[in-house]
Amino acid sequence: NRRFVLASRPHGVPTAENFRLESVAKPVPQSGEVLLRSVYLSLDPYMRGRMNDAKSYAAPVALDDVMVGATVCQVEESNNADFPVGEWVLAYTGWQDYGVSNGEGLIKLGSQPQAPSYALGIMGMPGFTAYMGLLDIGQPIEGDTLVVAAATGPVGATVGQIGKLKGCRVVGIAGGEEKCRHAVEVLGFDICIDHKADDFALQLAAACDKGIDVYFENVGGKVFDAVIPLLNTGARIPLCGLISQYNATSLPEGPDRLSMLMGTLLVKRIKMQGFIIFDDYAHRYGEFAQDMSAWLAEGKIQYREHIVEGFENTTEAFIGLLEGKNFGKLVIKVSEP
Ligand code: NDP
Repeated sequence: NRRFVLASRPHGVPTAENFRLESVAKPVPQSGEVLLRSVYLSLDPYMRGRMNDAKSYAAPVALDDVMVGATVCQVEESNNADFPVGEWVLAYTGWQDYGVSNGEGLIKLGSQPQAPSYALGIMGMPGFTAYMGLLDIGQPIEGDTLVVAAATGPVGATVGQIGKLKGCRVVGIAGGEEKCRHAVEVLGFDICIDHKADDFALQLAAACDKGIDVYFENVGGKVFDAVIPLLNTGARIPLCGLISQYNATSLPEGPDRLSMLMGTLLVKRIKMQGFIIFDDYAHRYGEFAQDMSAWLAEGKIQYREHIVEGFENTTEAFIGLLEGKNFGKLVIKVSEP
């Protein structure tokens, strides 16, 4: 059983030395338990937060503990009649080949799911995040201008496509020409701006000539700085993530802009609301699953995965996620089904 444990806590950008690859004995399932073999491991931005020893909505990973993460597994040995050998499940066994479970918290995906890895992305946590954040907090209406960054990732791509289904004008923001082209040509966004361009803020303003009604916040930093002056009266901001800040070790330089932001929120009566998907919306998963499976079946939602072969490549892929090296939902293929 190979596993990556947290060897040390990063200061700023994580490095390979913050993780340690270990090889330990395969766990043995006891009575009522199953042995789970990871086929797919999800890598997600929130994992960066778990590496810090800071108070947050979830406990940090302890030093020398296995890094946490959602996995799609197959049951390899079973002492639990509910989970026969070969069954696919969505589990939370983390960065390792094998885990054991008594069945609690496992979600059954059936014996032959069509696309098992989708449970980590479009049909799982990121897709659900996009759906609830946009529809419940963003409350888009036809004709609204919707802006979303990390536009080709699993959250942003889904936000923009649902926005199109709801009749919005969708402006994406992504890193680089290839991602921007994908957002327009494959995902159907109206336009997508490269946040690495020197005149990014000017390009964004030109793309939002009627202002911004919904800004789905995934990144923060200079993207949010460019968004603030464009917000319309009554705009909604689902505050989903701040990935540009996850490696930050101090506040940004420059004048304190907090009072300017507060003034904008006040005068323009803007609603900005944070949310943590499963803490806030677990009870509404069924609604999402029904809509999303229908949209996928009807070809109304496109979904791109970035699958990295080989468990040994996990740390490099994770570090790259925080730098925008992924193109689509980042998933490690740990073993063959
Ligand atoms: P992505 O796969 O989109 O990966 C992150 C992307 O963020 C990168 O590919 C990169 O895209 C972009 N990015 C990284 N650094 C910067 C930067 N400095 N400035 C601008 N863009 C940057 O991730 P997800 O779709 O899984 O997650 C998107 C956001 O949603 C994250 O902030 C995440 O934490 C949050 N989230 C929140 C949840 C909640 O419950 N609140 C649940 C799930 C996710 P590019 O190259 O295009 O810039």
